[in-house]
Amino acid sequence: MSFTYEQSALYCEAVALADIAARAGTPVYVYSSQSILDSFRAYDDALTGIPHMVCYAVKANSTLAILSLLAKAGSGFDIVSGGELFRVVKAGGDPSRVVFSGVGKTPEEVDYALAQGIHSFNAESEAELSLIDAIANRRGVKVSFALRVNPDVDAVTHPYTATGLRDHKFGIDISDVEGVYERARSLKNLVAHGVSCHIGSQLLSTSPMMDASDKMMALVGRLRASGHCIQYFDAGGGLGVSYKPADQAPEIGQFIASLRAKLAAKDLKVMIEPGRSIVGPAGVLLTRVLYRKSTGRKEFVIVDAAMNDLIRPALYQSHHEIIPLRETGRAGVVADVVGPVCETGDFLARGRTVANVMPGDLMAVCTVGAYGFVQASNYNSRTRPPEVLVEGSQWRVVRTRETYDDLIRGEQI
Ligand SMILES: *Cc1c(COP(=O)(O)O)cnc(C)c1O
Repeated sequence: MSFTYEQSALYCEAVALADIAARAGTPVYVYSSQSILDSFRAYDDALTGIPHMVCYAVKANSTLAILSLLAKAGSGFDIVSGGELFRVVKAGGDPSRVVFSGVGKTPEEVDYALAQGIHSFNAESEAELSLIDAIANRRGVKVSFALRVNPDVDAVTHPYTATGLRDHKFGIDISDVEGVYERARSLKNLVAHGVSCHIGSQLLSTSPMMDASDKMMALVGRLRASGHCIQYFDAGGGLGVSYKPADQAPEIGQFIASLRAKLAAKDLKVMIEPGRSIVGPAGVLLTRVLYRKSTGRKEFVIVDAAMNDLIRPALYQSHHEIIPLRETGRAGVVADVVGPVCETGDFLARGRTVANVMPGDLMAVCTVGAYGFVQASNYNSRTRPPEVLVEGSQWRVVRTRETYDDLIRGEQI
């Protein structure tokens, strides 16, 4: 466990979080490097003995220090934009271990990815294949691709994070995909080396992914029978994490063991693109209580972190545990925990029993390492918070707090 109480004070690894708040200020994101590496290795170790590549999904948290940590641990990367590739390269990641996913790649992004020599594209339409082929032809290179297959399984998650149903914008319908592989034979700068799917995010049951894998294995058989040299299966990301103590998140090792069973004797390299399950549990957002306020019917805890820092509660109705940095033993209070932004949707928790905190007290919003800072904005002209990486008893600021000058950078009157 990377976040634990010792003598009533909340620690990240061997660092008291109150020390970080005192020196870096609040709000501030804090990440445990141990937690990130443990989760990455849980995937990597469970795949020992078969050809594989764990490609961390950069969009979950694209901070350079985290990409660098994972690159050094041997991770590949799943990217969805040219900007993410730029970050991977800056962080020392190996482009030959990068897969480029996403439904709307631009010509400039495709060209940049080819120039960097990425591993492969996960393509989502026939028009995109033609574009990649034309640009690869201009560059005089050949590149591997997988089609992102929409296997038409229900991921059973929030509607915004389900991606594998026929009506979703993602991928190519499994009943159409063989025709697309067939027509792609005429594209001379592309080689169909893989199949890929990604059915959604925050999956708390792995059975939809197992159903999808069954369909994908059958597809691999059919494609090979018609002469396509399919070498890898990219199973996407999507494994859920426990946001509530009662959530039963799938165990990474068990999930990979079931996946391996599906692939047995298929002679396929496995690629996997986990994001949330690697960084989600590794991060907290520290915030200070500004005010307490009561309307007679409702109790509010007003804190200095807001929806611009963490939009997940407002966007996905997501639950994040909010715990005090110092345990007091006092009875809790039922309250809305809200930020300073001028939106009713600006809340971190609603009608939640939280510690009976007072102005000046510090709290940690938990499980925010994924889709937290990456979705932060400057709404209400608020500066984005700093990020801190903890390694054992050491910690360092890996992104400084924005200043007012940062807010107007690039603007002209
Ligand atoms: C978002 C995304 C992922 C990562 O999903 P997680 O739920 O964070 O593991 C992987 N692959 C693709 C194509 C994605 O869009």
